[in-house]
Order: sequence, then structure tokens, then C-alpha cells
Amino acid sequence: MLDQYVGISPKGDILLIKQLCQKLKGLTMLHINSTREGGGVAEILQRMIPLIEGLEVAVRWEVIEGDSRFFDVTKKIHNALQGFPEEFTDDMWQYHYEINRKNARRIDLNADMVFIHDPQPVPLVDFRPKGKNIWVWRCHIDLSNPQKDVCDRLTKYYEKYDAGIYHVSKFARGAKAFEFIVPPSIDPLSDKNRELTKEEIHETLDRFQIPHDRPIILQVSRFDRFKDPIGVIKAYRMVKRYNDCVLVLAGSPASDDPEGQEVLQEVKDYASDDPDIKILLLPPYSDKEINALQRAATVVLQKSLKEGFGLTVSEAMWKGKPVIGGAVGGIPLQIIHRVTGFLVYSIEGAAFRIRQFLNNPEMTVGMGEKGREHVRQNFLITRQIRDYLSIWYHILKGGKRVLELG
Ligand code: UDP
Repeated sequence: MLDQYVGISPKGDILLIKQLCQKLKGLTMLHINSTREGGGVAEILQRMIPLIEGLEVAVRWEVIEGDSRFFDVTKKIHNALQGFPEEFTDDMWQYHYEINRKNARRIDLNADMVFIHDPQPVPLVDFRPKGKNIWVWRCHIDLSNPQKDVCDRLTKYYEKYDAGIYHVSKFARGAKAFEFIVPPSIDPLSDKNRELTKEEIHETLDRFQIPHDRPIILQVSRFDRFKDPIGVIKAYRMVKRYNDCVLVLAGSPASDDPEGQEVLQEVKDYASDDPDIKILLLPPYSDKEINALQRAATVVLQKSLKEGFGLTVSEAMWKGKPVIGGAVGGIPLQIIHRVTGFLVYSIEGAAFRIRQFLNNPEMTVGMGEKGREHVRQNFLITRQIRDYLSIWYHILKGGKRVLELG
């Protein structure tokens, strides 16, 4: 399966993966997160697990189970870590721990290398089996301005991990000998990112009754206030005074995000009865539809106010689309301002840049091409697997060994 990436991914990444798998042969890797579908973490694991399965390293993916009370608490933790103030009681923290304790009884935690994703399953480290194993906390959240009391609570668990992995260096806590920066990635061969025919794209637009006689502005995101869907509508309304266009907001629910329904309603109310705003609530696994929408779009937005990484940015860039993104979290890693797209700081800024793209098709194409190459070099799944295996090998060897390519 890895060989399918030859000619697409950088050669060095594929070579390194093969070398590292030789070194790690027979060992086991385990990933644990809180949902199988919806959001970036599930998106990556869905693609990465089968690809690693084809290598000589054994891999498992487990998902913790919780009820609505648990996910209300963990969404609050998520919000607070991203700088939105939330109140917590001891009971809430106790419940967070209790549900993890139950999951620890259900899930086989035995593996040589364990990746715990995000704060939902973070207390599992208390149930870490004895013996030789490595536990890493893999954070996907924008930690640029976290609420201190929440950080302090989580640090008590974090101290028990061997390492932390963050998307962006400014998110790292500086609290451990082993902290690594590994941005996420997209899979160029998935249904979400593979090439589509014109017919496939048109069929999707027709099915969702999206007109194709005018430019399409698109944002693909869970309905989450940090993604600023209302700000996107405001920017579109400013643009619409001068350039006729259609706005598409596409999102789908995530089982670990209980606020989605409420935010979707706010967005629908705000869009009111504008026939040129299409709000799509897609079922999980609508990968081909998202792909088609991204390919049909004239301009793609990711106007987030906080963002761990924003896979949708790389997804659109891979399709040769110039992207306008909020200058937050991992978005500036992907958008090189004025080269592969534009970083914006306000609704007015977003509107200005949308108009710039709509009025300069040649610039749009040029930036789109550079964006695709930037993603090829830096944000394909092979690079992320290379990084995970490298970190594993590095820690296993006590940080002392250098891998020699032979
Ligand atoms: N996504 C999707 N359907 C939707 C909305 C989003 O498949 O209706 C996907 C999107 O294409 C991306 C992922 O969900 O792959 C979202 O990841 P991102 O890092 O952009 O944001 P997160 O949801 O993790 O905050």
C-alpha cells in the first residue's frame, strides 16, 4: 500500500518509513481517541491505521465510550483550552476520570507505543500497564491561550506521559524532555482528496442544488463557534454587494461535539432566507461530496478564530485552491501569506481577500499551484507516519540513536 504513494509523496519520506519499520518490526502501536467519525483526529486515524497495518508494525485504534454528560465536560475542557472561559466543578473532573476508569477496564491498553489523542482520554495514563511501553499525549488543540486551572488539572496527567506531540511549537508546554512538533496531514489517495471527474463534481452540485453559474465560496467545518461560521456569512454579505456569488457552509456532526446542533441553528437563523447561502449538514463519511465541493469552489475559507491545525486548509490547497484562513493555530503553517493564499485577522479582511481572488483569476490559479506543492512537501500522510515512527524509535533508543539510511 505504501508503494501507491511513490511518485506522489516525497521519496525520502517513503524510504524512511521503510527503514524505521525494519527497526520497529514486531512491536505494537495503539491509538486512542474519542470518536470514530467527525473532526480531524478521526479523519487522520481512518486513513493512517490501514496504511500502517500494511507495514510490519502492528497497530490498533480504540475509541473511548462516554455518555452525554462526559462529552459535555470534555467539550468544555476543549473550549477552555482554546481560550473560551468555562467553569468546572470537582464533580466534573471526577466524572471525566471515572469514565476513563471504566474505559480502561474495557480497552486492552497493552502496546509498545501508545498515542492518546486530546484531553478526553488523557486520564487513561493512570491505568498504564506495567512494563516496557511508551505513552505519548498527542494534542490537536490550539493551546495558544489556555485557561490556567484546566491546564493545571491536565498537567497532573501529562506528567505521567513519556512525551507530548503538538502541531505548532508555540503550543508545546516545555514541561518534558521529549516534546515534538508534528503537524497533521491529509491522504492524497482517499475519497476526500483523490481526483474527481467533472461529471462527479457537477453531480454533487446538482444534488445539493448549488448553482454553478457563479463563483462559489466554501467553508467546510464542524458547526463550531471557533470556526466562525457567522463571520463567514458576514464576509460573504460584504462581498455580495459587489460580486455575485454563492456561499456554501458544509459541516457534519461529530459524536464528541455536543454543541454542533445549537451552532447549526444559530447559523441557519443568521443566514435567514438568502437563497444563495447553502448550509449543508452532511452525514459522516461524505468524503466524495466534500471533495467535490472543494474542487467546485472558487475560493475556500477557513476563517477560524482558534484552530489546532485545520485539515480543510491542506485539503483545499491539495486541490489547487487558494485558501483564505484565520491567522491562528496551525493555519499559518499551511497558508504562506501572499504565496499560497491569504491570512486574515477580521471579517473585513476576509471579504477584501475574497474579492481579490474573485477579481483576479490568474492570481488564484498561481497561488493554488504553489499551495499544492507546499502540501505535497509537508502535509501528506506519509510525512506524518514517518514522524510518528521516528519519534517512537528516538524515544525507544533513549534519544541517543541516529537512524542511518542505508
Ligand atoms: N469534514 C467532513 N465533513 C464535514 C465537515 C468536515 O468530512 O461536513 C472533515 C474535513 O474535511 C476535515 C475534518 O473533517 O478532514 C476536519 O478537520 P479540521 O482539522 O479541519 O477541524 P476539526 O474538526 O478537527 O476541528
